[in-house]
Parts: sequence; structure tokens; C-alpha cells
Amino acid sequence: MHRLPRCETTECGTAFADTSRTGRQRYCSLRCANRDAVRRHRARATLT
Ligand SMILES: [Zn+2]
Repeated sequence: MHRLPRCETTECGTAFADTSRTGRQRYCSLRCANRDAVRRHRARATLT
């Protein structure tokens, strides 16, 4: 059974097949994961 979550990167929003064993894949691709990591890092840097 495949779940079809949406990529957590809002500007992407692609529905993808979660192929991870944990079922906790949050992004459609490593590229999106990296992009969101950079964004979170920047947001934190701006706050402090
Ligand atoms: Zn994505």
C-alpha cells in the first residue's frame, strides 16, 4: 500500500510515493529536502 503525501516544500507541493521504510519521507526529492533545510537555517539565523 502506497501513501501519497505532498512534498513539504510549499513551492513544490508534489505528491510523491513514500518509498522509505519508515513511511516518514517528507520531500519528493533530496533537492527539496536540502532547499527546506537551507530555508529553516536562514529563518533561524534571522531570528537570532
Ligand atoms: Zn518537492
